Amino acid sequence: MNALKAREIIDRTLYEDETVLAFSAVTDVDTQAPTLVDSSPNFWIAVTQSRFITVGEASGKATSYRLPEIKILEVRRKLLGGNLLHFDPAGYGPGLGLSTFKIHDKVAAKALPSLIASRSQAPTLRQETTSYTSVTVKSPPHLASLIGEESVEFRCITCDGACGGILKGEETIYPECSGCQRAVTKPSTSEC
Ligand SMILES: [Zn+2]
Repeated sequence: MNALKAREIIDRTLYEDETVLAFSAVTDVDTQAPTLVDSSPNFWIAVTQSRFITVGEASGKATSYRLPEIKILEVRRKLLGGNLLHFDPAGYGPGLGLSTFKIHDKVAAKALPSLIASRSQAPTLRQETTSYTSVTVKSPPHLASLIGEESVEFRCITCDGACGGILKGEETIYPECSGCQRAVTKPSTSEC
């Protein structure tokens, strides 16, 4: 995946009056954080008027957060140059929830501090709804014994983000799409 593709994924999550104010490739340099097999430390991040968005190189999926709800989001300049973005959505701390992103884009690194400084006053998102389509995915070999040969993912029809799924016969529907934060409604059965 490249920056163009990452930007496309982010753009699909946008609301009508929302624009991307900063965009950068980042690398998670926090080696303490547990990494899943075949996951990548490379991400893209974006800040809009209302949301902070990440796209994982490994997953190719957007995850977004309402700016005022994020516990920790701050840029720290390193002594020897370079900028680190400390991001911990729920405030779980190092090794559990904290990501330390090295910001690769200089323009974004400059713009970010002022963009996130006033994030507690960020405009609230419009109330919108989305629905999902069911996609059957084969489990990676190392997880097959744990979760079965395949599972069902619910993918947002607006942004392709995660809306839940069926794992071992148990259905989970997220209240909001993790990619775009739109309220998730069940697809109408007449469509099938
Ligand atoms: Zn979505």
